[in-house]
Amino acid sequence: MAGSDKPRWLVPKDHRTTNWILREDDPVNGTRVRTEYEDLQCPQCLKVDEDQAILRGLPKSIVIRSTVDYLSTGDDFIVVSNRFVDFCEAEGIVGFRLARLTDKYTLLLPGGSLAIFDPISCGAEFLRPCKTCGRFRETVGLFAADGLLHPIAEKVILSIAPSMESTRGRSCWFLTSCATAKILKSAKMKGLDIDPLY
Ligand SMILES: [Zn+2]
Repeated sequence: MAGSDKPRWLVPKDHRTTNWILREDDPVNGTRVRTEYEDLQCPQCLKVDEDQAILRGLPKSIVIRSTVDYLSTGDDFIVVSNRFVDFCEAEGIVGFRLARLTDKYTLLLPGGSLAIFDPISCGAEFLRPCKTCGRFRETVGLFAADGLLHPIAEKVILSIAPSMESTRGRSCWFLTSCATAKILKSAKMKGLDIDPLY
């Protein structure tokens, strides 16, 4: 794969305000899992099953404090603006799912197809599996292009498998083709950095 043709990460820039999706402010601990999702927490590692939570429905009370087109929340979801959604629709860019949050913002979620990496040679390490749910508590290192098991088609934005995990839950990362990255770059989406997959 030529260097310039490598897939590109869609990277949220640092955001001044922290927004939350499955958690809420808590005067004692800073944040806590929203009460409506507490039963989806693993009793051991305390992670919430994100897919089950989203299937259940997103809270009506979510407020996204932002003015940018692409941002990460404190619980590592990616949130996109109406402009981003409309742009992808107009350009025919697919591969992800969307879940409406507010009148201005939508969650960008893994779709039916993913960018699959070989977990052994991908370059990242998966540490401290939970004895109860099996999810890893941490992912360290960076995914490398050599570990990607198939090329990324044009006009898709794909989440990755295996997924990145933090102690809190899944970190949503998205990849796109070099050609689609160029289109997104030309649109000057606020809050979005585009970095090669090395
Ligand atoms: Zn667990």
